[in-house]
Amino acid sequence: MNICVVGTGYVGLVTGAVFADLGNEVVCVDRDQAKIDALRAGKIPIYEPGLEEMVARNVADRRLSFTTDLAAAVRRSVIVFITVGTPPREDGKTDLAAVESVARGIAEAMETYTVIVNKSTVPVGTGEFVREVIEQHQQRPVRFDVVSNPEFLREGSAIEDTLRPDRIVIGAPTQQVAMSLLELYAPLERPMIITDVPSAEMIKYASNAILATRISFMNAVANICEVAGADVTQVMKGVGLDSRIGAAFLQAGLGYGGSCFPKDTDSLIQTAATLGYDFGLLRAVVEVNRDRSAHFVGMMARGLGRLDNRVIAVLGLAFKPNTDDMREAKSIEIVTRLLDAGATVRAYDPVAMDNARKILPPLVEYTDSPYAAAEGADAVALVTEWNEFKLLNLERLRSVMRRPVIFDGRNLWEPERMRRLGFAYHSIGRRPVSPA
Ligand code: NAD
Repeated sequence: MNICVVGTGYVGLVTGAVFADLGNEVVCVDRDQAKIDALRAGKIPIYEPGLEEMVARNVADRRLSFTTDLAAAVRRSVIVFITVGTPPREDGKTDLAAVESVARGIAEAMETYTVIVNKSTVPVGTGEFVREVIEQHQQRPVRFDVVSNPEFLREGSAIEDTLRPDRIVIGAPTQQVAMSLLELYAPLERPMIITDVPSAEMIKYASNAILATRISFMNAVANICEVAGADVTQVMKGVGLDSRIGAAFLQAGLGYGGSCFPKDTDSLIQTAATLGYDFGLLRAVVEVNRDRSAHFVGMMARGLGRLDNRVIAVLGLAFKPNTDDMREAKSIEIVTRLLDAGATVRAYDPVAMDNARKILPPLVEYTDSPYAAAEGADAVALVTEWNEFKLLNLERLRSVMRRPVIFDGRNLWEPERMRRLGFAYHSIGRRPVSPA
């Protein structure tokens, strides 16, 4: 099948590569000339395990190509995916400017019947909006259909998630239109849900909102545990073993960040408000999440007595492990708060430091290892739970620090082990421990 994917970011590039790997002819389009030039030169603009090999393989086999020429790409395709960014506006609503601009471009280029598939995360009703934009901008009437096919991949495991998604959601105006997508996805042999366009759009937001709710719920429970002397990791285990609840997304920590949960929860609150419903429950979820960084830095200030003139080694900057994505990373707020309080921040991340340099305040010092970050530090603050940190030589870490104090924002280590290793160890929703 000839396919075009418009927006060659985390979602578009992975989607394009996987569809090409399944034997389709895929053109990935982006308006960013530098990105397209880089991809043509074999450079992958993002860090995503397994992506480079998959892209190289399919480019070599001439199933995958890159262009900025939207019109030409649309004309050779039977299905056009929209995978452009849908960032938040100041008021929390979703900025649909990129989706609208692509819809216009598709309308102007289309010469034969085309299925336009929206994979970007967009508020309920956007499918109808895209249909209207296309109708208004067609040079001459050409038949088309708009489908919603929300994306659920996670950065860091995007290839695996795209090859083996829990479900594929197809929101289409008719069964017949849905068939073209069914055919495309059939080789994956995964459960598919065929529904209408608005329901598909809502499935995406409801899914992200419920995951965010679980995270904030356990973080609120962690706050109570800290005061009550309970251990939130034990609570999490006890709760998660209930088959009606399950263990996923119950880890207490610094809360959710990234390019999806924060904007998608805000967007759903705004959509609800526009439709006349006050989504108070979700507003509370966002509120709990917003407090996490202040809570963590407060814990550090209490643990160290003061923050000014303290040297803090921040381990992990990406919004989560296995990605270089810094969008809405908790590190941004934590580092900024530490600097504002007069601390010196030395930071290390296995892959996100280039992106971090563009976003974090210039005062941050970057190091090439966790041990270099911890050299002479008054405390280590673990912000992103990279596997590399789980495997740290903690004795070596302690030996280079000025004081053996760790603030673990992700409950990566066991308090008793840290105590035995000679650390003062503070974590989330658990009692702090002092060195043995
Ligand atoms: P991204 O910012 O990585 O990529 C978006 C790409 O679109 C960029 O390369 C940009 O240059 C390009 N673009 C913007 N306007 C364009 C235009 N008019 N014409 C052509 N290209 C244009 O974004 P992303 O993370 O891939 O997210 C894309 C969508 O998928 C968003 O709606 C997001 O919410 C959703 N989503 C993202 C993830 C994720 O983990 N990143 C997961 C599920 C869903």
